[in-house]
Amino acid sequence: MVHRIHQVMGNAALGEMCETCAECCRHYPFVELSQDDIHALGKVTGLRFDAFTNPKRKRVEEYFLKFKENGDCFFLDDNYSCGVYEARPGVCRDYPSTPSQNKVCSANRRQFQSDDSGLA
Ligand code: SF4
Repeated sequence: MVHRIHQVMGNAALGEMCETCAECCRHYPFVELSQDDIHALGKVTGLRFDAFTNPKRKRVEEYFLKFKENGDCFFLDDNYSCGVYEARPGVCRDYPSTPSQNKVCSANRRQFQSDDSGLA
């Protein structure tokens, strides 16, 4: 698990508190994308924007990051690491940045720690 440190969403201010559980990248994360995010992701992956985006609203050019059928982020790999870490969107870089995100992140962190402590 240690190799995954800071390889998922993660606010630098959160630092060592991040348990890299990757819960923030799963269960249908709605990650809003700026034009800069879309450009950076396209550049690093070589993909067209419509391969990794979902339209936020009809007739308005605003986008979310696409997620897989199982609800994981399109770029979350099989090891629960971010496949585009260096080019991850601003929302991911700043996460958690709101009271509700902090609340969810804290709950996930506690759950992850308690699950982990049960392992040999
Ligand atoms: S882009 Fe990376 S950090 Fe952001 S939700 Fe997807 S896997 Fe997580």
